[in-house]
Amino acid sequence: MTPAAAYALAAPDGAFEKVTIERRDLGPQDVLIDIKYAGICHSDIHTARDEWGGTKYPVVPGHEIAGLVAAVGSAVSKYQVGDRVGVGCMVNSCGVCGPCLADEEQYCTKGATMTYNTPVDPSVQPDGYTMGGYSTQIVVTEDFVVGIPEGIGLDVAAPLLCAGVTLFSPLRHWNAGPGKKVAIIGMGGLGHVGVKIAAALGAEVTVLSHSLSKQEDGKMFGASHYYATSDKQTFRDLRGSFDLILNTVSADLPIDSYLRLLNLDGTLVILGLPEQPMSIKPFTIAGYRRSLAGSMIGGIAQTQEMLNFCAEHGIGAEIEVISADEIDGAYDRVVASDVRYRFVIDVSTI
Ligand SMILES: [Zn+2]
Ligand SMILES: [Zn+2]
Repeated sequence: MTPAAAYALAAPDGAFEKVTIERRDLGPQDVLIDIKYAGICHSDIHTARDEWGGTKYPVVPGHEIAGLVAAVGSAVSKYQVGDRVGVGCMVNSCGVCGPCLADEEQYCTKGATMTYNTPVDPSVQPDGYTMGGYSTQIVVTEDFVVGIPEGIGLDVAAPLLCAGVTLFSPLRHWNAGPGKKVAIIGMGGLGHVGVKIAAALGAEVTVLSHSLSKQEDGKMFGASHYYATSDKQTFRDLRGSFDLILNTVSADLPIDSYLRLLNLDGTLVILGLPEQPMSIKPFTIAGYRRSLAGSMIGGIAQTQEMLNFCAEHGIGAEIEVISADEIDGAYDRVVASDVRYRFVIDVSTI
């Protein structure tokens, strides 16, 4: 067992405190990572504050992990000490079901082992459930570790491990590229990375944001057009315009209004997850043979593909680096949409 320092929340309404957790001894296939940076994802907040239910305390969130390999197990072949590596939302899966064999471990029929707050055998994590990246070290089986290419800083790479692949996966699945018109709803932690990746893939990118306050940033990230959804005229002007719309917003939206912005055979993909059920008018999708779809993160192979693509195109997340004692304040600012565009914890401050 290896002790690691971590920041944990003991109760939904508590404050983060420094604790010591145990990481398992290195198995033959395991990689020990010295974590350098951990991004703050909105899912961390939902889990830490038990807004989705079922949170086990103390909870150590964090699934946007970037660091350096500190040690490897005897059978590890992909990584060596000193390699730049990342860990995203998953740390294991069954490996034998259809989705796992298709490199879509996030859809593992037995349920992938998520990076934090997932029940596991104490031999996997001594506490009986996984502990995430707000921590100095983590042990992960090599198949769930990805390489971070030279050319992306570890700090701006960290958010790509969740936010990046969450956008990259649907953009690839629905063939965003030259000649395709893609709209991204929301210009937050997810949306801003989506704009960069969609533009680098060659698509014509439009941002649909509540207001025009981030318009300059959106254009700088590669958007060709930027519209305010608070202006009703936007929905009249853009009717039937897009091949693909990615919704990164987890608030309840008038989904029919957005579906009508799709062209023939267009697809609207839900990435942000509101808590309430949504209703649609069947006529809206029957007209123009539109589709409403969903997508959840991406597989490990695709996460590696995304990192390689981002390195090639000089894409990183826009970040604000904070120290570990600033996590509580950062959470409040994420909830208030007051961040451009992702907080990243400098783990050397733990
Ligand atoms: Zn996330
Ligand atoms: Zn599986």
